[in-house]
Amino acid sequence: MTYNKVTVEDIDVKGKKVLVRCDFNVPLDAEGNITDENRIVGALPTIKYLIENGAKVILCSHMGKPKGEPVPSLSLAPVAKSLSEKLGKEVVFAADDNVVGENAKAAVAAMKDGDVVLLQNTRYRKEETKNEKNFSEELASLADLFVNDAFGTAHRAHCSNVGVSEILKPAAAGYLIQKEIEFLGNAVNDPVRPLVAVLGGSKVSSKISVIENLLDKVDKLIIGGGMAYTFEAAMGKKTGDSLLEEDYIDFAKKMLEKGKDKIVLPIDTVVAKEFKNDADAKVVEGDIEDGWMGLDIGPKSVELFSEVLKTAKTVVWNGPMGVFEMPNFAKGTNAIAKVLADIDATTIIGGGDSVAAVNQAGLGDKMSHISTGGGASMEFLEGKVLPGIAALTDK
Ligand code: AMP
Repeated sequence: MTYNKVTVEDIDVKGKKVLVRCDFNVPLDAEGNITDENRIVGALPTIKYLIENGAKVILCSHMGKPKGEPVPSLSLAPVAKSLSEKLGKEVVFAADDNVVGENAKAAVAAMKDGDVVLLQNTRYRKEETKNEKNFSEELASLADLFVNDAFGTAHRAHCSNVGVSEILKPAAAGYLIQKEIEFLGNAVNDPVRPLVAVLGGSKVSSKISVIENLLDKVDKLIIGGGMAYTFEAAMGKKTGDSLLEEDYIDFAKKMLEKGKDKIVLPIDTVVAKEFKNDADAKVVEGDIEDGWMGLDIGPKSVELFSEVLKTAKTVVWNGPMGVFEMPNFAKGTNAIAKVLADIDATTIIGGGDSVAAVNQAGLGDKMSHISTGGGASMEFLEGKVLPGIAALTDK
């Protein structure tokens, strides 16, 4: 699925009330302090652009799972405070338990160009996650235009993304969503070739649709991590006590058949006696004996994968090559991160644990794009339509 959506820069926002769906789903400690402000920082470019271009900026987001009722510990008040500091101007917080209430209406009515108002947690309303029209209409009634910049919820059809997009036109993509479309979406569907995907992580079963979708699109598919052993078993190899999903051996056989010129598997494995960092470990080629489990790819596999990656012009990576949380079994994952950092290609880290792995290796800023959405990134890689993006206005 390729998208070509109107962006925030394509619309005339001067003097207009613009409703912006952000992802302010930030973690809080027991005292209600924000412990990681990355998502707030990530939202700033779109908000600043709108302020600088004279819009009246009405922000909304969900936080946590209040399940359709007001939960004071999940109020967006701390976000308003953080935003005010970061923008260097007051962000008026409309503390309505029903989100679009008297406070919100009065705050919006008093707005001048360049002002910012933040609404209360959209999931205080039970209609939000059901995409029910009445709440979409209430949200839309506050504004003239809509901008969606919340990639993390793009795989869901809720009032505050899909519902309002259907009412407020044009509905435009903010900078964060635009970047995800450009990299994760269009680079996978319309890539500069060769396109190489690297898949890892624990299970074949959780990535069936990703494997199927990518196999059709890539020039090479590198498979490492725990999921590699089900493929090795499918080729008749012994996998000892390694992770193995017997029910998926037939699926792996089918993929190997279909992708015989594309799939690249490890040729050696770091095996250990136990699932712990300081367990007895060694490198083996071929079969893995009983009593040993594969916890990382071996040095020859790193070499082989590097050779393939060096031919790539676009790389998409999802899932670590081994148990990267344990330093002794993080070497394969770190080595692949280093190769991606060094090659002359568009490198896209497709969400989840590979993002943590790349950051752990200190190489996050060397990648072309690190996707911010867990579930949304996976659905992009699965080739699914993302309702929150599909609902935006086409160019
Ligand atoms: P996923 O969420 O499916 O991407 O899986 C990520 C998890 O896979 C991480 O927690 C890794 O520790 C785990 N993993 C990677 N390789 C292996 C392996 N060889 N054996 C067991 N777990 C693994």
